[in-house]
Order: sequence, then C-alpha cells, then structure tokens
Amino acid sequence: MNIAELFKEKTVFSFEVFPPKKESGVETIYQTLKDLKDLRPDFISVTYGAGGTGVANATTIDLCSKIKNEYHIETIAHLSCLYNTKESVDKILEQLKAKGIENILALRGDVNPDYEVKKDFQYASDLTEYILAKNMGFYVSGACYPEVHQEAENMVEDIKNLKKKVEAGADHLISQLFFDNHAFYDFIEKVRIAGIDVPVEAGIMPVTNKKQIERMVSMCGASIPAKLSKVLQKFGDDPIAMRDAGISYAVDQIVDLVANGVDGVHIYTMNDPYVAKRISDSVENIIK
Ligand code: FAD
Repeated sequence: MNIAELFKEKTVFSFEVFPPKKESGVETIYQTLKDLKDLRPDFISVTYGAGGTGVANATTIDLCSKIKNEYHIETIAHLSCLYNTKESVDKILEQLKAKGIENILALRGDVNPDYEVKKDFQYASDLTEYILAKNMGFYVSGACYPEVHQEAENMVEDIKNLKKKVEAGADHLISQLFFDNHAFYDFIEKVRIAGIDVPVEAGIMPVTNKKQIERMVSMCGASIPAKLSKVLQKFGDDPIAMRDAGISYAVDQIVDLVANGVDGVHIYTMNDPYVAKRISDSVENIIK
C-alpha cells in the first residue's frame, strides 16, 4: 500500500533501521527486526548503502522483504541515486517489485569522495520522476531538512527545491533529525505556505550516546538547544544515565509534536530495539 494513505487515518509512528556493516553479520539485525516488529510500527524503513554507494543494497532489499513478507509490516526501501545509473536503478526496481516492496524513499545520497559520481541522476527529484515514469506501481517518499540541507544556499532555495521533488511525485516526506521542535514548526509553516501539502513526518533521534550525537550533528548540522546541551554536559559520561535522559528527551519532543498536530513521527532507531521499545511504550496512548 501507499504509505501516504496511512496519514489519512492516524498520526503515523515509524522506525528506521540500517543494514549492518558486512563484518558485523546479519544475525543481529534479524534479531533487531524481530524485536521491533512486536512494537507494531506503521512501517519500518531500511537505509541504503554506506554513503549512498549501494554497497549494502542487497541487504536493504532483503531486510525490506523480511519486514513486509514475514512480519507483514509496511516497509520503505531507501534508494539513493548519485552512484547509480539508470541501468542499475532498473535492476533494483525489478528486485523490489519481485519481493512485493512498493514504497521507495528516493534520495540523492551524500557525496563520497572515494567513489565516482555517475551522471544519470543529479537530484532526488530526478530519481523520483524516473521511478514513477516506469509505471511499475511504486510510491515515492522524499527527505526534507527542517534546518536546511547543508549544501543549499538558504531555506527559501531549499524549500523551492523540495517543491520540485513533490511536483515530481513524492507524496510523503521524512525529515532530517532535529532536537528543537520550534525549528520543525517554523519549517512546516514555510513548507505549507509554499504549497507543499503532502504529509511530513518528524525525524526523531534519541540521543543515547554523546560521541554518536556529536558525529551526527557535525554531519547533518542539527542545532543543539540549551536544554539538550545541559543534558549532554550532565550525563554524557555516564552511559546508562545518558541513555535514559536521551529517551526522556525524545519522548518529550514527541509529546510536544503530537500536541501540535504533527503528521507522523519517524524514529531513527540506530538498530536499538530496547530504546525503540522504551519510547514506543511511553507514547502508545499519545500517538493514535
Ligand atoms: P536532494 O533532494 O536532491 O537535495 C540535495 C541538495 O540539492 C539540496 O541542497 C537541495 O536544495 C538541492 N536541490 C535539489 N533539487 C535541486 C534542483 N532541481 N536544482 C538545484 N538544487 C537542487 N543517505 C544515504 O546514503 N542512504 C540513506 O538511506 C539515506 N536515508 C536518508 C533518510 C532521510 C529521512 C534523510 C533526511 C536523509 C537520508 N540520507 C540517506 C541522506 C541524504 O542522502 C543526504 O542528506 C543527501 O545529501 C541529500 O539527499 P536528498 O535526497 O535530500 O537530496
């Protein structure tokens, strides 16, 4: 089914997982999925390849297939295009189709200096258009950036580009992680003024590890509000306290988002079912 349809019925609650690095084996992720499925999310999305290069793409399709066909939970396969050709995308689409996977998060991918960019697709909107023109029954989602994509000139240009992606056919958006809900509300207001009216899910990453969050923030440019900064200062060196404080911060964000009418919440689980369960249990009577 088209993920976008889910938003007509409820506030959507979804998870994201990533395929394990080759050396860490697939057994762990299978156990993770088993645990996540018991939380009955509306869908689970699976990221594509390290740095968007497609290195782990077979695993993305396998994991999506398991989610959809064994656990009967909707799934979105991420697919990035900078390092794909039309021919390689065609192969992936065939594989997705064969496994009954209907939803794709069409992405550009990050620039990785170790790989040569292919020239077939420049932006996520090119991939979106290409997938939909094939008429293979796929539905396409896209990414968006409440605090502006790092390469965009400014918010106005970024939202104009986002509109192109939606006009190309993306009918559901998932946001980059953010820690300041006001940044998200400001963004949504601008997006709606721009005439983008598809559902936008808020991307929430529980901060359970100080080092990991410093790395993430340097990669994606999310701002750290004073409240979170204090939490990191106080609990950053105590792993268990940091985990619990991070879960609490994420729950607090979600409650505020739902109270303000968010379309949906997408949890970046970091493949940690324990954290996903704690959050899920805390909001089960809030997200409906
Ligand atoms: P685009 O929408 O193409 O935008 C990229 C930049 O180009 C922006 O600055 C935009 O303003 C600009 N732009 C877009 N269209 C035009 C145009 N027509 N003319 C001029 N400028 C334009 N990466 C992975 O490798 N694998 C994943 O699985 C993955 N999953 C993600 C999931 C989510 C929810 C998010 C938010 C990001 C994810 N990423 C993933 C990271 C993503 O690939 C990077 O953020 C990448 O830098 C941008 O991808 P995009 O699809 O948003 O690009």
